Amino acid sequence: MTKILVTGGAGYIGSHAVVELAQAGFEPIIVDNFVNSETTVLAGLREILGREVPCYRIDCGNAEALHEVFRKEGDIKGVIHFAAYKAVGESVQKPLAYFHNNVGSLITLLQVMKDEGVENLVFSSSCTVYGIPDQLPVTEATPTKPASSPYGRTKQMCEDVVHDSSQAADNTTHTILLRYFNPIGAHESAKIGELPLGVPNNLVPFITQTAAGLRDKLTIFGNDYDTPDGTNVRDYIHVVDLAKAHVVAVQRLLDRKASEVVETFNVGTGHGNTVLEVVKAFEEASGQKLNYSIGPRRPGDVPAIYADATKAAEVLGFKTETSLRDALASAWKWQQSLVR
Ligand code: UDP
Repeated sequence: MTKILVTGGAGYIGSHAVVELAQAGFEPIIVDNFVNSETTVLAGLREILGREVPCYRIDCGNAEALHEVFRKEGDIKGVIHFAAYKAVGESVQKPLAYFHNNVGSLITLLQVMKDEGVENLVFSSSCTVYGIPDQLPVTEATPTKPASSPYGRTKQMCEDVVHDSSQAADNTTHTILLRYFNPIGAHESAKIGELPLGVPNNLVPFITQTAAGLRDKLTIFGNDYDTPDGTNVRDYIHVVDLAKAHVVAVQRLLDRKASEVVETFNVGTGHGNTVLEVVKAFEEASGQKLNYSIGPRRPGDVPAIYADATKAAEVLGFKTETSLRDALASAWKWQQSLVR
C-alpha cells in the first residue's frame, strides 16, 4: 500500500481525507499537534475503517520530528498538508501566530520533503485567495485580490512559496494546490465531523448547534448585499466530496500526469447559495424550524463567491456528488450524535 502522510489528519477535512484515502487503498499516516483537534477523532477513524491509523503527535514546524517520521515510515510517497490555523477572526487578533504557523510549517515541510526525497504534495488552499473577485464564478485564472484577513493572506503566501520554490533549479517537488470553497457536513457514519471549539464562527455548525438548543438563534450577517435575497452567496461543498478530491489529486501526482510542476484547482460544486437558502435547506433536511434574525454585516465578508468547477471536472475527472440538502442532513446527524 502506498503511504501518504496527512498533516492535520485529525482535523475536520483531514480526517475525512484519511477515510477516503484508506478506502481507496492508500495507507494514510497522520501527523497532528492536536491544538485544534481531539484524539477522539482517532477512535472514529478506527470505527469507520476497522483498523488503527498510525498517528504522530508532532508539530509541522518541528523539522527534526518530521524527519524522524519519514525515516521511521521509510517509504512515504506523498504528503497532503492540511495542518494550519483556520479561524479568520482569530487571525486578525494573532497575525504573527498565523504567519508563523501556516507559512512557517509549509516552508519546513517543503525542506524536509526535499531532504527525504518525497516529491508529491497536495496543499490545502482556499477560495479566500480570490479576495473580492471582479467576476463570478471564479476560475483558477481569476486574478487574486487583496485578502480580507491575515488568514487569507497566509494562503496566498503559501501559494507563492510553492510557486517560487518550484522554480528553483534543484526543485524536486510536484504540487497540486486545491482551493477549497465552503466545506460542510460530516461522514455518513456520524463517527467523524466538525468539532468547533467554543462558539462556532462558521455558518453550518452555528445552525446545527442552534437547532440542537445549544444556541438561542442564528444571526444572519446582513441582508442588504447585491445578491438574489440580499444575503451572502457561497459555494458549499460536502466534506466527503472535498476529501475525495485529495485522493484524485494524489493519484495524479503519483502517476506523473500533472502538466505543470504546480497545478491549481478550484474544489467547489460550481453553485452558489445564499445564507437564507442554506437555512431553508437545513429546515427541510432536518425537519427543524430554525430561530434566526437578520443582523449587521460581518466585517471582511465577501458579498458573493462560488467556483467555476470546470477545470477540476475536465482535468481531474472530479465532480461533487452530494446535494446541499444531503450535506446539511449529514451535519444534523453529526450534531445529534454529539448531543447524545
Ligand atoms: N454567516 C452568518 N451567520 C453566522 C455565521 C456565518 O450569517 O453566524 C454567514 C457569513 O456571513 C457568510 C456565510 O454565512 O456569508 C458563510 O460563513 P462561514 O464563516 O461559514 O464561511 P466563510 O465563507 O466566511 O469562510
